[in-house]
Amino acid sequence: MFDPFSPRRSLSLSAILLVAMCALAPGARAQSPAASTDAIRVTLLGTGTPRPFMDRFGPSILVEAGNEKLIFDVGRGAMQRLFQLGVSYGDVTGVLLTHLHSDHTVGLPDLWLTGWLISNRATPLELWGPTGTRKMAEGLQSAYSFDLDIRVRDDKVPAAGGRILAHDIAEQVVFDRGGVKVSAFLVDHGLVRPALGYRVDAGGHSVVLSGDTRYSPNLIAHAKGTDLLIHEVGAASAELLRTDAHIRTIIDHHTTPERAAEVFNEVRPKLAVFSHLVLRGVSAEDALRTTRLTYAGPLEVGEDLMRFHIGEQVTMEMFVPPAGAH
Ligand SMILES: [Zn+2]
Ligand SMILES: [Zn+2]
Repeated sequence: MFDPFSPRRSLSLSAILLVAMCALAPGARAQSPAASTDAIRVTLLGTGTPRPFMDRFGPSILVEAGNEKLIFDVGRGAMQRLFQLGVSYGDVTGVLLTHLHSDHTVGLPDLWLTGWLISNRATPLELWGPTGTRKMAEGLQSAYSFDLDIRVRDDKVPAAGGRILAHDIAEQVVFDRGGVKVSAFLVDHGLVRPALGYRVDAGGHSVVLSGDTRYSPNLIAHAKGTDLLIHEVGAASAELLRTDAHIRTIIDHHTTPERAAEVFNEVRPKLAVFSHLVLRGVSAEDALRTTRLTYAGPLEVGEDLMRFHIGEQVTMEMFVPPAGAH
C-alpha cells in the first residue's frame, strides 16, 4: 500500500511538511502552491527495477509541460500509477524509451491497450526510442492483433487509437513544438547500446532524465545547469560484490553512489533525485549517505508518485491519490 509515512522515506523538511499537509485532508488531491507557475511538472510513476516490488513499480516518469504529457519508459505498473494520478491515457502526447531492457518497456502493452480501451483514445500513440523500437512496436501490434481487431468490432473503440507510430531515434532533438523541446542523448549502459537519456526544456527551465547509465561524460555535457536531474543509481554490499559475479556485472552497468556524486558536482542541478534504485544488499539510505560524503547539494531519494514542480524554484511533494478512485 501507499504509505507516505513509511520509515524508509528520507524526505527534506519541506517535503515532510507537504506530505503532512496532504495527510490532513485524506482523499484530497495534493495541490502544489506553485502549480500555476510551473514550467515543467515531473511525476515519478515507478522508481524500481526488474525485481517485482509492490512499493516501487518499474521505471517510468511522467513529464508535463505546455500541451505535452510525455511518459519516459513504461515499466511495470505505469498504467496503474497514471490512473492514480487521474491522468487519462487519451491525453498522453507521447512515450519515449531510454533503452529496450524489459523492465523499461514491459508496461507498454498495458498502457497502450488498456489505456486505449478505457479512454476511447482516437489518435495513434507516438513512440520514440533507440534502434529496435520500431521493430518492437510492430511485434507488439502483431502479438495483440486479435485484441486490436475485436476491441474495434465489439467494443467500438476508435481503430486509430490502437495504432503505434514508432520512431527509432539517435542523439538528436526529438521534437520542438509548442514551446517544449525534447532532446535525446547517448549514455553508457555497458553492452546495452544504444541507450539514451533525455532532456526536456520549456519556459527557460529543464529536466534531465539519465535513463540507465554508468558515469557518463556525455550526460554531464547535456545536463549542465539543469533545474532537475533525475538519475539512476546502482550499489551492492561489499560481500555481494566479492562473491557474486552476476551482481558485479549488474552494478557495472549502473552509476555507483560515489560516481553519482561526481555527476551531481559537475552538473550542479537545483535538485538531484535518485530514481531506478538498483540496490542489492544495501538500502537507499546507504546509497544516499555514500553520495553525501562528497556531494553537498540538494539530493532526494525518489519514491513512486513523488512530484516535482519546476519554475523559479524546484519544489517537491508526494502525490496523494484520491481515496477510492476507480
Ligand atoms: Zn537497463
Ligand atoms: Zn533499468
